[in-house]
Amino acid sequence: MEDCIFCKIIKGEIPSKKVYEDDEILAFHDISPMAPIHVVIIPKKHISSANELTEENASFISHIYVTAAKIAKELGIDESGYRIVNNCGADGGQTVFHIHFHLLGGKKLNTELA
Ligand code: 5GP
Ligand code: ZN
Repeated sequence: MEDCIFCKIIKGEIPSKKVYEDDEILAFHDISPMAPIHVVIIPKKHISSANELTEENASFISHIYVTAAKIAKELGIDESGYRIVNNCGADGGQTVFHIHFHLLGGKKLNTELA
């Protein structure tokens, strides 16, 4: 997707502080962190939101969760705890329409869900 910020990050056209990368997914530090640890994890294939998930294209999600747990351990928040969040659409707070998962930790997070 030409105008997608996260596709540009994948292509290296926009710099990012990478935490993890393989053929399928990329993880990098959020530019505007909401917590001491705030990593964004994305599939390299452009999928705009959770609305576009199908049984055929969603297998990367298990890989993202397993990798998020590994990143949490590497960054030292596995014992203290963390949250993995996906925002979908305007009411869900999604601002970048390339599906992504936030890994948040390093402090006691607000427990309000809505
Ligand atoms: P959303 O609000 O869509 O769930 O999350 C998008 C996230 O992407 C936000 O937390 C925002 O700070 C982050 N973000 C937006 N543009 C960039 C960028 O160019 N670089 C990085 N590292 N993060 C970005
Ligand atoms: Zn994209």
